[in-house]
Parts: sequence; structure tokens; C-alpha cells
Amino acid sequence: MNILIIGAGGFIGSHLSEEIIRNHDDWNIVALDIASSKIEHLLNHKRFNFIKADILKDLDVVEEQLKSCDLVFPLAAIANPSMYVQDPLKIFEVDFEGNLQIIKWAVKHNKRIIFPSTSEVYGMCEDEEFDEETSNLIAGPIGKQRWIYSCSKQMLDRVIYAHGLKNGLRYTLFRPFNWIGPRLDDIFKAESGSSRVVSQFLSNILHGKDINLVDGGSQLRCFTYISDGVAALIKIIENKNNCADGQIFNVGNPHNELTIRELAEKIIRFAGKYDKLMEVAKKIKITSMSSADYYGKTYQDVIKRVPSIKKAETALNWKPIVGVNELLTKTMDFYFR
Ligand code: NAD
Repeated sequence: MNILIIGAGGFIGSHLSEEIIRNHDDWNIVALDIASSKIEHLLNHKRFNFIKADILKDLDVVEEQLKSCDLVFPLAAIANPSMYVQDPLKIFEVDFEGNLQIIKWAVKHNKRIIFPSTSEVYGMCEDEEFDEETSNLIAGPIGKQRWIYSCSKQMLDRVIYAHGLKNGLRYTLFRPFNWIGPRLDDIFKAESGSSRVVSQFLSNILHGKDINLVDGGSQLRCFTYISDGVAALIKIIENKNNCADGQIFNVGNPHNELTIRELAEKIIRFAGKYDKLMEVAKKIKITSMSSADYYGKTYQDVIKRVPSIKKAETALNWKPIVGVNELLTKTMDFYFR
């Protein structure tokens, strides 16, 4: 099988590529991205063909590669909450417009597509567990710019679903819930507010900066180790008995629920185990800041986000297995050992 991974140079794409190259000899990858620093170790592999391409500029290249693949993963996006409020039009351009074009080509060339939706589409839904079939997708007012990411993804979910019905597009949508692991972000460069929460905290500790919790850090999130996420993606690619066709799957670990404050406390405690961080970790304090001061007034938060994973467990025969202490240890070992 020939798999086109667009955005293969990112966090999920690099881990997915690594797993395919390591354990699936009959699958070949064409990897498109504007960056390749996270996939340097794969570049010389004979089943891994990297092409530097921008989905907004190199349209011919992307369409050409799409024509000759069996399956496409459009993973290229900007997936960073601070960017949703800093540059909402950029989010629309890359995450929505760039990916809409890829979806249209998948329809035109009759290709199977596995598309990353997001836990963010559930927005401020108040269900105890978010369910793919029944939960409402709730966004805030237009002035709260952070919802542009959620709405862009939601709209593409709806477009893909409609093409499935009308044009027979073969698709699967997966919704990652806070996937974490090595190579999540470049913590050595991370500026305050520029990366995802775990990366931000790791970067703060590394640079000896206090950890600033947004609104006290009472938000609850379920953290999922990348290998568990990738294991679900492999099951989706394998698609035994067409189990993934036309389906939406939450892919997260409901047992790994922590408040953001608990996450910060754990990371500081764990940092004490690494020679590089031992001394600095003792000095890090946890402070709090309003979301308006941290992200600006156009931010709006999600208090709790727990996936129901019954569907993925049943249809894909998949279960997340990495607990929260283990996932933090593995991630921190990668950066600090
Ligand atoms: P990432 O930021 O690590 O990777 C995205 C990749 O897209 C990067 O390598 C980047 O260089 C590339 N890219 C950006 N703009 C591009 C362009 N114009 N042309 C070509 N490549 C471009 O993100 P990720 O965590 O790997 O996420 C992958 C997908 O999964 C995204 O669609 C994201 O929204 C979705 N997702 C991720 C999570 C998570 O927990 N990581 C959660 C929900 C949804």
C-alpha cells in the first residue's frame, strides 16, 4: 500500500511514519511537509520518500502525489491554541482552505482519506464523556477567536461526511485528545504561549521560568501517549472488514484525566529526577494568570474534555495502555536524558 502523509514532519506524522517503517514492510510512505527536522532519521529509508512541499503553494506537487497513492493522511495544520487567537486567518487558510483542497482531490481521484479531526470540535459541550454520534459541538461567539480552529475542523468533518454520502468518498475521521510524547514541540525554542501545554511546561522548567497557569489551571484534560494514538491509526489503516470506513473515532485515554495544575505539579516533581533539571526544578513556582492576560480577551476555555472511546474499542479492537506517569516519564526522558 502507498500511503501519502501530508504533514509527515509533524508530531503525529513523524511517529506514524516511524511505526510504519519499523513494522509494516509492505507499506510505502510519501511524506510531504515544509519541515523535516523531526523525520531526519527516516530520510534515507527506501520506503520513505520525503518531498518538501507547501500545501498552500505547491498545489501541483500535492495533487500529483495524491493521484498515485492508495490512502492519504492530511496532517498538515497549525495546531497550537495560542495561534488560534494570534492569527485566526492563518488557521483558516492552512487548516481549512489548504485541507479542503486535499479533500476535493481525494474525491476527484477516488482515494481513501483518514482525516484528523480534533477533540476541540466538541468545544464547550457539557457531556460527561464526548460521544462521536450524540454529543453536540458547541462553539462560543465570533469575538472569541479561538473557535476558528474548532469550527474549521468541524466544517471539514461535515464536508468529508457529505462527500461520503453523496460521492462515495471512503473516509475515517479520528479525534485526538491531547496526544503527548517525544517530538511534540521544540521545547528548546518554545517562547511563552507558543506551544502546547506539556511542551510549554517542559520549556519553562528547562529555562528556569515559573509556570503560569491560565485561570488557576483547573481545566481537566485526558492525556494520551502517542504510541497509543498511533496504534489506533494503524488499526484504521488496516481497516479489517472495513471496520473504519465511514466512521468517526475519538482517540484518547479517559483514564489519564488531570487538571492542568496537577499536570504542572507532576512535571515539576518528575523534573527532580533529571540531572539537568534537578536544581532549577526546586526553584520553579506555580503562578496563575487570567486567560485574558495570557491569551488575550478573544480566548475562551474548555473546562473538561473526556472522550468516550467505546466505539474505537469495539470497532477497532483498540485500547490505550500507557498511564499518565509513564507517558510523562517517557516524554521527559526523550528531552532530558
Ligand atoms: P504538528 O504541528 O506537530 O504537525 C503539523 C505539520 O504540518 C508540521 O510538520 C508542519 O510543518 C506541517 N505544515 C504546516 N503548514 C504546512 C503547509 N502549509 N504545507 C505543508 N506542511 C505544513 O501537529 P500534529 O500534532 O502532528 O497534528 C497533526 C494533525 O492532527 C493536525 O491536523 C492537528 O490539528 C490534529 N490534531 C492533533 C492533536 C494532538 O494532540 N497532537 C489533537 C487534535 C488534532
